[in-house]
Amino acid sequence: MSDAHSERKRDADVDTVRVGISRVHHPVWALGPGRRVGIWFQGCSIHCAGCMSRDTWDPAPPDDVDGITISGGEPFDQPAALAGLTRWLRERFDPDRIDVLVYSGYAHADLVAQHPGIVAELDVLITEPFRAQAAGTQLRWRGSPNQRLVALSDLGRRRYAEHLDAPADTGLQIDVHDGAVRLIGVPRPGDLVRIEQGLARRGIALDECSWNRTGAVAATRPSDAGDP
Ligand code: SF4
Repeated sequence: MSDAHSERKRDADVDTVRVGISRVHHPVWALGPGRRVGIWFQGCSIHCAGCMSRDTWDPAPPDDVDGITISGGEPFDQPAALAGLTRWLRERFDPDRIDVLVYSGYAHADLVAQHPGIVAELDVLITEPFRAQAAGTQLRWRGSPNQRLVALSDLGRRRYAEHLDAPADTGLQIDVHDGAVRLIGVPRPGDLVRIEQGLARRGIALDECSWNRTGAVAATRPSDAGDP
């Protein structure tokens, strides 16, 4: 075995360690050759003047967290990973204070039948497939009217009771990082078309748009919200 190989094996054998990650992004083409996955560590003690990544300086995990939302993609398509993650979240965060909400496109009854152990670890599920052709919904955090918000725990029932029938008035977040713009949240019917058209009027064309791969602006669309 070569020295380099032995060294790599030694590194891989190191006991499990915690890592603070700021973000992961793909594709990245401005930080090395080809299409890459970028991984940014959190925490920097050097503090260069003019640093463009000041948000990565603080090594401490945020302490102003009320809850954790897991979305996708489909989290239940990786049940072992989701089970491990939810177990870890339960150990890491105070279960009486920090709720865990999971979005899934599967039916609530199927999740309870097939993944009772994972469901038991959650406070809230938002379930059922997104139906683009259905009439849009004005219900908070849901993209189509068939989607259900199900509170599973005492904390979930306490915290989400007021949101069950509340209107979709929480808005969209816009996150800009590394040349990409991300919308976080559930758009109301027509929001995405309005955003595309508004940008087009200002001469901005969307490239690699996640809800419309061609970047073309649809004239009308009955509803346009999937996973947040
Ligand atoms: S540029 Fe920013 S992140 Fe990089 S070493 Fe300097 S302070 Fe740290």
